[in-house]
Amino acid sequence: MQAEAFAYLWSIAHNNPESSVIEMVDIQDETPLEKIWYRGLMPDVNKSLVLNPHVFLLWLRKNIEDSGVKFVRREINSLSELRDEGHDVLVNATGFGSKFLHDVADNDVQLIRGQTHLVKTDHNKIFMRHGQDYTYIIPRLDGTAILGGIKQVGETYTHVDEEIKKDVRSASQILARMQMTTKSSVITLIRPGRPSGVRVEFEQLGDQKVVHAYGTGGGGYVFQLRRGKGCCELG
Ligand SMILES: Cc1cc2nc3c(=O)[nH]c(=O)nc-3n(C[C@H](O)[C@H](O)[C@H](O)COP(=O)(O)OP(=O)(O)OC[C@H]3O[C@@H](n4cnc5c(N)ncnc54)[C@H](O)[C@@H]3O)c2cc1C
Repeated sequence: MQAEAFAYLWSIAHNNPESSVIEMVDIQDETPLEKIWYRGLMPDVNKSLVLNPHVFLLWLRKNIEDSGVKFVRREINSLSELRDEGHDVLVNATGFGSKFLHDVADNDVQLIRGQTHLVKTDHNKIFMRHGQDYTYIIPRLDGTAILGGIKQVGETYTHVDEEIKKDVRSASQILARMQMTTKSSVITLIRPGRPSGVRVEFEQLGDQKVVHAYGTGGGGYVFQLRRGKGCCELG
């Protein structure tokens, strides 16, 4: 699933720079080259791709709207509420909402809290440490970078955890010898995890044809292309 996204995002990086997708030098701390799963998928083994969701999602939305799609925002309690909308197939991409929708109620869905820190810095390389001390620095090449590495399964609190903030900042400074300003803005978000794997599956729910497409955890962007194609194939 993820392999296809590399080719797709690589082409966007080169053809649509306004999408924010950009290639960047990628430093994997203590991970031998042969263990990097996407080795061989990129034209340069020391490079990966970065995007800024605030720019990328607006760019994507505009492209979709230009092709005639209309967005409507509405909260629902079950997919069956949508059965009279006149569609052929309903795609359920509600992320962790699939745990709470009455007619999906997927108990395998996990809510995984993340806390990232946006800092001002000229640092220009991705830095990634895996394992127990999971830490990452993802520059945006606009004078800022995202620092992170927090995955709290089952936690959903939205206030800033000051202890975590201190840890993430000092780990980034020590590991990458990174210079940054003292101020940072903190973003807390929930990843829609699913230990048994991403669900891309057809289901006949009453008189509605449904294709489920959720559970990407911390990989919504790297799963995006294959997830979309899977929905088209199943629908
Ligand atoms: C800290 C952090 C770091 C991340 N880093 C990366 C990364 O480096 N690379 C990567 O690929 N991904 C990353 N992700 C993951 C990525 O953001 C998610 O995987 C992605 O957002 C999931 O997309 P989705 O569309 O499946 O679900 P969501 O983005 O959760 O969208 C689900 C939508 O459904 C709507 N919805 C849910 N329930 C209902 C309801 N009952 N009625 C109406 N609407 C409903 C929600 O409002 C929401 O708009 C990260 C996430 C976090 C939190």
